[in-house]
Amino acid sequence: MVSFPLAPGATLGILGGGQLGRMLSLAAARLGFDVMILTPEKNSPASRVSAHTVVAAYEDHGALDQLAKACAVITFEFENVPAAALERLACRGALTAPNAQALAVAQDRLAEKTFLNGAGLPTVKFAAVENPADLVEALSQLRAPLLLKSRRGGYDGKGQIWVRRASEAADALAAIGGGPAIAETPADFRRELAIIAARGRDGEIALYPLTESHHENGILRRTTAPARGAEKAFAEAERIAATLLTALDYVGVLGVELFERDDGRLLVNEFAPRVHNTGHWTLDGCDVDQFEQHIRAIAGWPLGPTRAERAVEMTNLLGDEAGAWARFAAEPESRLWLYGKTEAKPGRKMGHVNRITRSTSR
Ligand code: AMP
Repeated sequence: MVSFPLAPGATLGILGGGQLGRMLSLAAARLGFDVMILTPEKNSPASRVSAHTVVAAYEDHGALDQLAKACAVITFEFENVPAAALERLACRGALTAPNAQALAVAQDRLAEKTFLNGAGLPTVKFAAVENPADLVEALSQLRAPLLLKSRRGGYDGKGQIWVRRASEAADALAAIGGGPAIAETPADFRRELAIIAARGRDGEIALYPLTESHHENGILRRTTAPARGAEKAFAEAERIAATLLTALDYVGVLGVELFERDDGRLLVNEFAPRVHNTGHWTLDGCDVDQFEQHIRAIAGWPLGPTRAERAVEMTNLLGDEAGAWARFAAEPESRLWLYGKTEAKPGRKMGHVNRITRSTSR
């Protein structure tokens, strides 16, 4: 029987071995916890800084049982964990945070938008698309253009295509790999914003300042933190994040991506039930960053302060850009985070640099 707050010395499990797992593991170590990583990848970014690694498929029962036995709490660094893995962990009595429902909702864009609207939170209009006829119907109901997205598995703008005419329906659906899909109306946004939110085991909520996201080719390129002139938007984002955390009975850190319309209204694009790239600035902008906050939350510790102590511009280092590490290391205002990945494929997130642009609160 696990009791909270979890005492240092316990082992925490993480499904996934990427950079988010690596930074979670570093934060866990700081608080005196050991981490056991489950990843199919040998020599992963996370396993290189963690006490234990099990290299196996996410559905591997033996591997999941090993985690369930060793770990007081198990968490995730990506949302596409197979449902079968969660069921196995649950039947072995393992405690997971966030809960399986939050993951299931976030894995399916249709379930996600339906859940958000059900909780009273605003999104673009949307329709379920199983076949070309559904898409033709959606074009007549919601009007063109529509953004067609795969319901599952898409990330960084992959699996998405704009559809303008009924005659394009079949080809568009084929281009994203067929159904099931979702068709969305255009968000007509002037800015993309994001908020990192945390909820503790006792229901305590902590929200980081709203930030501005800049994408290139569907991939996050830069985060400006805090977002400029965002007082009114912040109040609305705060309401959105707090409502969502409570509706999901969530424990841990969650990232919410938002669209800001010309009239200042916010729409929720999507949420990620985990630490998030738009929160990397907190590593150098806040006293307690999103990774430590997540560990605190799942371990039942009190949440830490979320105020921006410094304004930060976070830039992702993609592909061979991380090769310029020596230049970033020489900049006194820059803090360099490298993920230890050996192969620099184009567009692959190899690290990020946090540039301190000014002190804020003090
Ligand atoms: P997603 O994978 O859903 O986060 O979408 C990736 C990016 O596509 C977003 O960050 C937006 O820039 C853009 N996008 C997503 N949905 C819409 C929409 N309904 N209207 C306009 N742009 C969108």
